[in-house]
Order: sequence, then C-alpha cells, then structure tokens
Amino acid sequence: MIEIGLTGGIGSGKSTVADMLVERGAVLIDADRIVRDLQEPGAPVFEAMVERWGQGIVAEDGTLDRAAVATIVFTDDDELKAINDIVHPAVGEAMQARRDELKQTDAVVVFDIPLLVKSENDPVDERYSHLQGIIVVDVDVELAVERLVSHRGFHTDDARGRIANQASREARRAVADVVIDNSGDLDSLGPQVDAAWEWAKGLGSGQEEEEVAPSE
Ligand code: ADP
Repeated sequence: MIEIGLTGGIGSGKSTVADMLVERGAVLIDADRIVRDLQEPGAPVFEAMVERWGQGIVAEDGTLDRAAVATIVFTDDDELKAINDIVHPAVGEAMQARRDELKQTDAVVVFDIPLLVKSENDPVDERYSHLQGIIVVDVDVELAVERLVSHRGFHTDDARGRIANQASREARRAVADVVIDNSGDLDSLGPQVDAAWEWAKGLGSGQEEEEVAPSE
C-alpha cells in the first residue's frame, strides 16, 4: 500500500482531482465522506451529537441539521472542542479500519483531507504521519470563489468567508510534495494528474526495499 494525502482549499478543485486519480486506479478514502456517513441518522456520531445537543440539531426529516450544528459550534470554542472530541476519534477509527483492509495490497490509497493543513503555524497533524507524500491542489482565491459561486451555488460572501477561515495557499504549498495548479481549464488538469499519479506509484518500490533490508 502506498499512502498519499490530497488537500486543497475549498473550491480549489480537490474533489475533481480526487475523481481523476480514481480514474487512474487510486483507492480514495474521503474524510468528508466518512464524517457524513458517521452522521447519518442512527450512526454513532449522530447519536453522540444528539445526546449532547438535543433534538434541536435534528431536521424535520430526521437527518442532522448542519446549519443548527454550525451555529452552535462556530460561536463557542467549548462546543467546537466538544464536536471535535466526538467526531475526530470516530473518523480516525473508520480511516484506520479502511487502512487495515488495504494494508496487504499494492493499492495506491489517496486520503482526501480538506483540513490536512489547518493554519499557518500548524504543520500536518500527527494523525496523518503515515502519509508518504502530499499532493496540494492550488488555485487563486478569486478563481475559487468564482467556481464555487457559478458551479456549486455558493453566495460570494459565504465562499470568501470559508476560504478566509482555512489555511492560506502558502501554508498548504509549504507541505506539498506535488502542487497541482488548477488555474487553467479542466483539460489542463489531465497531464498534471498523470504526472502526480506516476510520482505516487513510484513511492512504493523504494520504501518497501528499505523496510526489508537487513540492518547490518
Ligand atoms: P473542492 O473539492 O476543492 O472544493 P471542486 O473539485 O468541487 O473543489 O471544484 C469546485 C467547482 O469548480 C466544481 O464545480 C468543479 O467542477 C469546478 N472546477 C474544478 N476545476 C475546474 C477547472 N479547472 N475549470 C473549471 N471548473 C472547475
């Protein structure tokens, strides 16, 4: 197994690149997807959240009311810590279970982790120390806003606000082994993803040889 991290700011094109890596043969482990699955009605994280914050965070159709949760946790640091304490260990366990399943295979596993880099002075979280390399999808902030507004239905202010709350482009690029520049059209991504894919596959052989080499 080869383990690669994929990150980028909201609207950078990270999900687009993730799909393209899957087309080339990568196995994707999507952190956001895992969180959403664990927050489905009846799932453990959903239950733990309702236990703490009550029915006020449950929408009429019985699913999690994300806006209600956001209002609670983004206005109070203690509540933010509480949700992180509920969500992070569960996500960690789910990711570990996926890793265990894939460990004995020669899969190239791509971990799509939006908040791999949280802020300027916050290096990559030790939870991700198993990653052998990191791909960063990078794009100009204005272009990201434009794409979020025109393709994903965001309001301009919301798009800008979310980008402002995330790590800067520089902080992400500082931890990158490979930077994919998504300032061009979708066609210009192809060759860059090809190159990143070749690089990722190449990480396998060297590492395994090192591990089995005799120590003396
Ligand atoms: P992220 O996962 O980083 O938030 P997405 O991959 O969802 O970003 O991309 C944001 C939006 O921009 C999507 O609707 C996507 O289809 C579109 N998009 C991504 N890359 C390009 C590009 N090079 N040209 C035009 N649209 C793009």
